[in-house]
Amino acid sequence: MPTDIKSLTQEELQAQFQAWGQPTYRAAQLLEWLYARRVVDWDAMTNLPRALRDRLRTEFTLHTLALVRKQGATDATQKFLWRLPDHALIESVLIPANPALYGEPSDRHTLCVSTQVGCAYGCEFCASGLDGWKRNLGVEEIVEQVVAVERWNDREQSKVHSPQSIVGGEAITQDAARYLPESRTQTTDEDEALDPASRIPHPATPPRLVNNLVIMGMGEPLANYDPLLKALRLLNAPWGGGIGARKITISTSGLAPQIRKLAEEPLQVRLAISLHGATDATRNRLMPVNRKYPLSELIRACECYLEKKGRMLTFEYLLIAGVNDGLAQVEPLAALARRLKAKVNLIPYNPVDGLPWQRPTDAAQEAFLAALEKRKVPATLRREKGSDIAAACGQLRLKTEHELAAST
Ligand code: SF4
Repeated sequence: MPTDIKSLTQEELQAQFQAWGQPTYRAAQLLEWLYARRVVDWDAMTNLPRALRDRLRTEFTLHTLALVRKQGATDATQKFLWRLPDHALIESVLIPANPALYGEPSDRHTLCVSTQVGCAYGCEFCASGLDGWKRNLGVEEIVEQVVAVERWNDREQSKVHSPQSIVGGEAITQDAARYLPESRTQTTDEDEALDPASRIPHPATPPRLVNNLVIMGMGEPLANYDPLLKALRLLNAPWGGGIGARKITISTSGLAPQIRKLAEEPLQVRLAISLHGATDATRNRLMPVNRKYPLSELIRACECYLEKKGRMLTFEYLLIAGVNDGLAQVEPLAALARRLKAKVNLIPYNPVDGLPWQRPTDAAQEAFLAALEKRKVPATLRREKGSDIAAACGQLRLKTEHELAAST
């Protein structure tokens, strides 16, 4: 299988171009087409010589995600169902203006991305694990979720604004030349081999939408460790996704050894633990992973992370009626939060078709929050309706797969 171009770092591209006898600034030009202009076709990269484009086409793939379905209004939480090149389906969720979920004053546009097709961890409340694990996502499939949402936004914006702002070369603004990358103004012998179209100034680089990432879509992120970490380096790099490391949160169901490994990484990402129970009895009931890495082991790994990174942790806590929303859970949860200086995000459960769990009443949710606050634990309760779509992660994919199976 050829490597996909969106799985390579700038250094790897430069090394490849050097090996081909190309100037290294070609790597910067290519990266701009991939991440700033988000083109989907080699032929759109008009400032690369045609012979180079042909060689890239032969040696690399340039896969994009196909949008199968989208749920949600443009100004609210939106769920994207993507088809991968092998026809597997994954979800990403865009959550606009989400207030202070991960310690930021305001997360303007948060994208929740998937890291696996399905999930092997079988949490009892989760739609993503219902049909089991199919495969890990590649680096480029994680990266492309962000780029594809940006591309979708570019199209939405082009409907709103004048044709002069359209991305992709169809329309060109009068002053577009001032947005050209520096390397574009250099003339080389090879420029003689460029398309005539390349001599037309490109339109302005479209603005970016996504400025926060949460890795808590389908799959257990830390079970796909190396591709995830490389994807995050690409998404964090200024020549790539340009998303600050501190605006990236990895969520795990509790893979203690990988948490320790993550603590050694130079990338300063945030860590969220999908806790959902503050005792082994409750976690064992909901999350099979707890039998392998019980709370004592998980908490020690979190302490190691805290010691190495000095960064605040977040506990994700789904409130499920009659399972973990009783006030008896509050004291052990508060004790864990205090020990790890963690913030608690309470998320009222969103029922999943085929699963018996229910959402607690509003009064029960508020009582749980108040009991945590009384114990001086920083906590938030997700009250916004739009987030219901995010909370039910995995359902759209399951629904679509079952519909497709029924129609064949
Ligand atoms: S909650 Fe996360 S780890 Fe658990 S089954 Fe769902 S996707 Fe997998």
